[in-house]
Amino acid sequence: MTQPRQFTGDTLVIATHNKGKVPEIAALLKDHVQNFPSAGELGLGEPEETETTYIGNAVLKARAAALASGLPALADDSGVSVEGLGGDPGVYSARWAGPGKDFTVAMERVRLGLEASPDRKGDRAAFICALALAWPDGHVEAVEGRLEGKVSFPARGTNGFGYDPIFIADGYDITCGEMDPALKHAISHRSNAFAKLKARCFTGS
Ligand code: IMP
Repeated sequence: MTQPRQFTGDTLVIATHNKGKVPEIAALLKDHVQNFPSAGELGLGEPEETETTYIGNAVLKARAAALASGLPALADDSGVSVEGLGGDPGVYSARWAGPGKDFTVAMERVRLGLEASPDRKGDRAAFICALALAWPDGHVEAVEGRLEGKVSFPARGTNGFGYDPIFIADGYDITCGEMDPALKHAISHRSNAFAKLKARCFTGS
């Protein structure tokens, strides 16, 4: 089996146009990387997320940024997959909130979908975060982090974002919307994915 490729440079492009993600990712990798230009700052295009898997979309975004910048690039893709909805909203998690990014609409769509499903037992769910690290020669390393749990109604709590008010992680009886943000961060699919990526590609830097 070939070894995963190690990140060795000092500059990593963050393949996002979402300004909030850059400091968050920079903080997670600050011990390994010095400069974190974003795709937005570099004026790179924003590719359409046309894939049907989290990894597929993360790879697509990381590759596009690495090719366009000539530098290694990191992209993420995340969402919530609900068993009783056949894995939806999945890669469409952000899109279910519509152009107004209204997650009450998206969470209601999950509730109605489960109510309409035949056995109404499909509340098992997972938050999933894929990370892809791509180099300009096209090589990619990708990992997926998960937070297992279930969805629960009505929505509860005002912490966090997106689907947090309807997601209860295994081992807890409060939603992620009611959870202390530091605890959510510590158990999240995102920190799980970064731990995997660091173990895979940042052990030497
Ligand atoms: P992305 O920015 O394209 O990866 O979209 C991710 C979407 O998935 C967000 O807009 C949220 O709706 C949802 N999502 C991802 N991670 C979380 C989380 O930790 N809590 C709640 N919702 C999340």
